[in-house]
Amino acid sequence: MFILNRRNLLALGVAGAATAMASRLSLAAVADTKVFTADEAGVMVDSTVIVGEKSAIVVDAQFTVANAKALADVIQATGKEVTTILITHYHPDHLLGLSVLLDRFPEAKPLTHPSVLAMINKASAPTLKALTAQAPKGVFPDKLIVPDVLTKDHLLLEGERIEILDPMHGDTEFVTPVHIPSLNTLIAADVGYTDTHLWLEENTTPDQVSKWRDSTRELEAIGAKTVIPGHRKPDSRSDASIFAYTRSYLDSWEKALAASKSADELKAALLKDHPDAGFGFALQRSVAAIYKN
Ligand SMILES: [Zn+2]
Repeated sequence: MFILNRRNLLALGVAGAATAMASRLSLAAVADTKVFTADEAGVMVDSTVIVGEKSAIVVDAQFTVANAKALADVIQATGKEVTTILITHYHPDHLLGLSVLLDRFPEAKPLTHPSVLAMINKASAPTLKALTAQAPKGVFPDKLIVPDVLTKDHLLLEGERIEILDPMHGDTEFVTPVHIPSLNTLIAADVGYTDTHLWLEENTTPDQVSKWRDSTRELEAIGAKTVIPGHRKPDSRSDASIFAYTRSYLDSWEKALAASKSADELKAALLKDHPDAGFGFALQRSVAAIYKN
């Protein structure tokens, strides 16, 4: 009887182990993320490929044609079918490469949150026109693809939930970070930067800067082990330290704004605090937003 019970217990143990293995296997549907970071000409923007067993979801589509093509090569090397390309916010450095990606992966569905879509409809066509008028032909994609509207708070990758967070204030008003619980990974999008200047054109008031700081704390509280910033240097870390970096840059910005009386002084103060930061174009535009130069 004892042996029988023991056998039963063993059988239960084995059954338990099998169940645990099955649930681990189902969680393994999302196997990995691959991050592509653009060069300085592509404003060091990150795109993330969330890789499943057979398919993949891409988060953000790059800015220039060259960087979007390089991202497409990274995606193609995974050998997975792209189901969705999610755009986290309306800025052209995350959106414009969509036409290049869709040429390569026509089966993919581009999606974005309704608040982001409203901004794209309002701002993106004039921005693309201005960019293509200024740059040599072929640098930027010549057509704007407007994503379809996202109707849920998540995407499914082979049955597994990829959480699309509600829009929060980052370098613009509506940014939708992405949380992948099974990988303990958070794609901060443009709520978190590291080792670059921040795009502050839309954060010129104390209230806006304060909202951005609050968003970094909200994301930090998720406690994800891997945190992918919106902009970085290629060798920067992918962890929660990006939030402290972002807040320290916002501190520098406010201190420099209070102390500077000219564009040159503002620029010099930010460069003094962050001498090695990449994405110099952001610094130029942030200063211009204050001094209209
Ligand atoms: Zn950006």
